[in-house]
Amino acid sequence: MSREIIINSSYIVASILFILGLKMLGRQATARKGNLISGVGMLIAIVVTLLDRHVIDYTWIITGIVIGSVIGLACARFVKMTTMPEMVALLNGFGGLASLIVGTAEYFRIRGGTIVPDHPEFTASVIFFAVLIGGITFSGSIYAFCKLAEWLSGRAVLFRGQHIVNGMLLVLTVVAGVVFVVAGDPFLQLAAVGVFVALALVLGWTLVMPIGGGDMPVVISMLNSLSGLAACAAGFVISNNVLVVAGCLVGTSGVILTAIMCRAMNRSLANVLFSGFGAVPAATASGEAATMQGELKPISAEDSFAVLEAARQVVIIPGYGMAVSQAQHVVREMAEMIERNGAEVRFAIHPVAGRMPGHMNVLLAEANVPYEQLVEMDSINPLMPTMDVAIVIGANDVVNPAASRDKASPIYGMPIINAHEARTVICLKRGKGTGFSGLENQLFLMPNTRMLYGDAKSSLQGVVAEFKSLAST
Ligand code: NAP
Repeated sequence: MSREIIINSSYIVASILFILGLKMLGRQATARKGNLISGVGMLIAIVVTLLDRHVIDYTWIITGIVIGSVIGLACARFVKMTTMPEMVALLNGFGGLASLIVGTAEYFRIRGGTIVPDHPEFTASVIFFAVLIGGITFSGSIYAFCKLAEWLSGRAVLFRGQHIVNGMLLVLTVVAGVVFVVAGDPFLQLAAVGVFVALALVLGWTLVMPIGGGDMPVVISMLNSLSGLAACAAGFVISNNVLVVAGCLVGTSGVILTAIMCRAMNRSLANVLFSGFGAVPAATASGEAATMQGELKPISAEDSFAVLEAARQVVIIPGYGMAVSQAQHVVREMAEMIERNGAEVRFAIHPVAGRMPGHMNVLLAEANVPYEQLVEMDSINPLMPTMDVAIVIGANDVVNPAASRDKASPIYGMPIINAHEARTVICLKRGKGTGFSGLENQLFLMPNTRMLYGDAKSSLQGVVAEFKSLAST
């Protein structure tokens, strides 16, 4: 068998493992195995590539692998589940930077005269794309990381003519790219590389600037997709089939995830990227929000316990506030006590509850809540009228009935969990704070709703203490 057949067959095996792994990542029960299978695919791809490339000296390659592995292991060990969005932002950014470096390094290799590509215009074009997309992904991801880590304000930064400035930067970058591809003069080409590398880095920053911190998960998923496309372009630059395939997989899965998140918020990607959502407080109340009636009725931990003790069907609806207060462990403890008391407990998961895709799933998995208890929105809503108690833990927008019935509401059309249909609703929040959208919520004023005020974790600890004292009597 020729060397080329062995190399390409190994790449096909690696690609199949990537696809299988990706598929398995779609379900919590198989996700760990999926991760492992993709990792094996990556190992095959790396080993085969190194053997294929006639490497003369492995010193720097081994040094890089050791440093990268130590950093990766440390991150896997020490980064908390709640800081995963920041971690993913950094990983995307470095993926983009790698493509930018591969693109520019290949340019200097060709310029150095060691090789002459068969199709110089094609090679120059893919170098341009790898650098452009890689540069945007790198600086955009670093900005997103700084917003998520609160090193920079999470607010959308808007200024007059922002879209025009961004548009002009993009046009200038493309012009520099065209000059790079068609210019025969080496100095003109070098100048063009300098210009579009710099512009790509500026563009990444300015494109993320007008997007609020709350929308960063959508941006990160989009940047993830871009890092895949950059890797795909880098694969064409160095003629590496498996890099092209892996890049396409990351690119397309990122696009799908971005689309799912936008649909779950009933917003278009353009609205997320360009509307400056979250830059200013929500518009003056209109529609249902303007005519909200009813009063907020507080309830104590003791009374909440009494309601829960009598319940037979309980649904827990977690939201961003559960993540803020890190209440997942005490939530699990409370759920176990309610079950021991003879009730059935379910966790209703909204696809955009919290601030990143799967945010609630990750937190509840960390607290060892069994997968079987997690129910998706579409499955729980038909059961909602049969629920004795719905406990809303730091969720707001995802249970706001205005989304389904107030056409004037900015979140109209966003699918919600129908918590208001349960017989009794207990809402845990610290005060009168609004949710991510900045909107008031009629749910809190409904006759069947009670407000358990305070940090979610301490409120739940109060309820758990009541269950414990019942158990000890
Ligand atoms: P939310 O609408 O942001 O509401 C969170 C609620 O938690 C607030 O009303 C707040 O009220 C309460 N809270 C905050 N800290 C708390 C604490 N320590 N203890 C108790 N309560 C606390 O959250 P959500 O219902 O989960 O909705 C998520 C929102 O984020 C949606 O609008 C969604 O579109 C958006 N979003 C999500 C994603 C994603 O991928 N998941 C991406 C982009 C945007 P108080 O201040 O009164 O306590």
